[in-house]
This record gives sequence, structure tokens and C-alpha cells, in this order.
Amino acid sequence: MKAMISEKFSIAHRLSSSMNNRQNNLHGHTWRVDVVVEGPVGRDGFVMDFVLLKEKVKAALDGFDRKVILGNNDVLLFEGLKKLGVDVRTIEGEPTAENLAKVLYRRLERELGKSVYLEKVVVWRSDNAWVECNEADAEIVKGG
Ligand SMILES: [Zn+2]
Repeated sequence: MKAMISEKFSIAHRLSSSMNNRQNNLHGHTWRVDVVVEGPVGRDGFVMDFVLLKEKVKAALDGFDRKVILGNNDVLLFEGLKKLGVDVRTIEGEPTAENLAKVLYRRLERELGKSVYLEKVVVWRSDNAWVECNEADAEIVKGG
């Protein structure tokens, strides 16, 4: 059976390689992530207790929520914001919804361990724009 939980989070970012000025400027979104897990219903009656699943999602979002997330190539802005005391983080590649979804999938996979199968994460950049990331999309290397 599948179970899904949603969490909202806030991130400011910019897409430094974008030719679109609106994307190139530092700006924020309230994002949402839908996390879908799958597994057998246990003796406790749960695929996974929503309270526990919520904790895992919150842990995966730690370091993202209310932060500035930049691409790892955005060195000047990163250094400038750091000097100003801004809590700024980087991810590999541009901080697009797609790359954020990959990072969240990998973090959740680590948080969940073998307790349940992580089917997918859906990252909503707004009410009408989302990306979906599964295991293959996240390029998780198992046993290696
Ligand atoms: Zn944006």
C-alpha cells in the first residue's frame, strides 16, 4: 500500500545560467514536497506512521527550509552572502526544482533506510508547477 505526506518549505534561489531576468535574480518560493512511500501494512496497521514519516521528511528538509540555495558554480554570490552572515547553501548544478527533488530524494532515502520503499518525491515550485523524482531519476548507486 502507498502512503503520502506533504510538507511546505521556503527557499530563495536564483538560476545563474538563466537568460530570463526573473529567474536570474535572487527570489523566493514557498515550495511543497509530496513524499510517497510504499510497503506492506504492518501489525501496527501502518505502512509507516505519519508522525514518523513527517519527522523523516522534516529531517530531510533540514538545511533547506528558510535558506538561500545556490548552484555550486555561483561562487561570487555565495561568498558575498556568506560574508553578510546569510545562511546560504549550495547544491550540485543549478538549484532548479529538478535538482532540489534529486537532493531531497537522496536525503529521504537515507532517512528512511530499509523501513519502507521511497516511491517518489514530487516537488511543487508553485500551485501549478511540479517535478517528480523516483529512484532512477535520483541516480542512487546501491551497494557501491
Ligand atoms: Zn525560482
